[in-house]
Amino acid sequence: MTDGEEYTLADEIVARARIHAREVVDEYELAVDLGALEWDVSPRARRRAGACRWHADREVATIVLARKAYEAYEWPAFAEIVRHELVHAWEFQRFGESGHGSRFRERAAALEAPRHCDAFAEPRYVLRCLTHSCDWQAERHRASKPVKSPDQYRCGACNGALEVEHAVSGRTWTTASGYGGAKAALGDEW
Ligand SMILES: [Zn+2]
Ligand SMILES: [Zn+2]
Repeated sequence: MTDGEEYTLADEIVARARIHAREVVDEYELAVDLGALEWDVSPRARRRAGACRWHADREVATIVLARKAYEAYEWPAFAEIVRHELVHAWEFQRFGESGHGSRFRERAAALEAPRHCDAFAEPRYVLRCLTHSCDWQAERHRASKPVKSPDQYRCGACNGALEVEHAVSGRTWTTASGYGGAKAALGDEW
């Protein structure tokens, strides 16, 4: 641990995930043995929001959660990731193996958890500097203030104006009204 703040955030992530895991066991009757489950936080993982490892020798599952995902997502979306990894832990504890097959799919659906755990790779929005000579850009997973009102913010590198792209549709905007227009035009595709 080099940074006190990082330690605190990792503690917070594990504490919230543990509480949620207990709720899942109670409410959805997923028979995960919480006593044979360990938690860890990855400070660097970018592609995967979560992972579950199985230590067959000790019969213990370890769920690893990405700090960057916790920072990028609202809690309900992060909680879905926790539930996804809990299904892996349950499969490991019960069957000694885990994947994304039909058994996993059924359980994940019952828990309202996503079937895939690699969604973290795709940002929903890309913020980009409009200055021709500047290649600054940043990815966002939720509609942060700069995403909603890019005209209220400046490029962190050159102080230039910003544009936002909706990654799935390719639509772009530079103002708050442009954001509203793109959202209205896309409707269900948003
Ligand atoms: Zn998975
Ligand atoms: Zn710039």
